[in-house]
Amino acid sequence: MKAYKGIIFILGLIYLNAAMALQWPNNAKSAVSVSADDGWPTQLDQASILEKYGFRGTFYLSAGGMPAVITYKDAWRGVFQRGHEVGNHSYSHWADPVLAGKTWQEVAIDVGNMEQWLLANIYSLTPSDHTFAYPGGNYIIGSQDSLVSRQVGSCEYAAFLSAIVTGARIAGSGENDPNKVPNQRYWINGVPIDGDDTTAFNNAKQAIDNGIKNNTWTILIFHALGDGSGLTVTKAGYTKIISYLQSRQTDLWVAPVIKVKNYIMSNIPYSPWSCPPVE
Ligand SMILES: [Zn+2]
Repeated sequence: MKAYKGIIFILGLIYLNAAMALQWPNNAKSAVSVSADDGWPTQLDQASILEKYGFRGTFYLSAGGMPAVITYKDAWRGVFQRGHEVGNHSYSHWADPVLAGKTWQEVAIDVGNMEQWLLANIYSLTPSDHTFAYPGGNYIIGSQDSLVSRQVGSCEYAAFLSAIVTGARIAGSGENDPNKVPNQRYWINGVPIDGDDTTAFNNAKQAIDNGIKNNTWTILIFHALGDGSGLTVTKAGYTKIISYLQSRQTDLWVAPVIKVKNYIMSNIPYSPWSCPPVE
């Protein structure tokens, strides 16, 4: 009988959890974060465009992978001081073939080196809560082809990240269900946006509109502003997307990744982080 009551209680908790929809700030229907990877110099323009529309974004810097980050470090400190999140994208930004030959300890040191760089050059020696973005979106270290060369999987990677940052973004697809974010805070989904103006706008609009329909959290991922080929979008294309965010402002809460993640975690009950499998 006691066990039976316990099961009913647990089922009740599960039901409550599922039925409890997160209320976004200002009665918004969805949250959107605008993120950018690597620290391309044209992302300083992205910060200005966001500010023109009253928004703040998230910029993941890699000082070794993108040496221009060091050249423009004063400008990046200004971006941080104006309210954007400036996050860790590892120091060396090792590509997959290089990463495949690294031990997890080497990767942990590289992430730590970037953290030290941010602390010294961007945060002015005052620690700042921020998130990490996996270089190349890869959250597994070592070749996965053979068990011998495999170093660590996503859980172990997140384990050492958790000593440095409070969340991490992957480059996946789709929006984030806020109920799942606390336990998956080291695998927060982002949607890469690139291509010509029409392609970029349509993909971004679809992700934003899905978020509004499903009350979820959409993170857009940008790289450089360029000619619209490769991983770039044009300046006009980027501006059109940010302008669309403004046109849907009554439905949206636009904020950096760290702010949305922390808001969710202060509003949704969750168990202590314990290396859950990625879904
Ligand atoms: Zn990158």
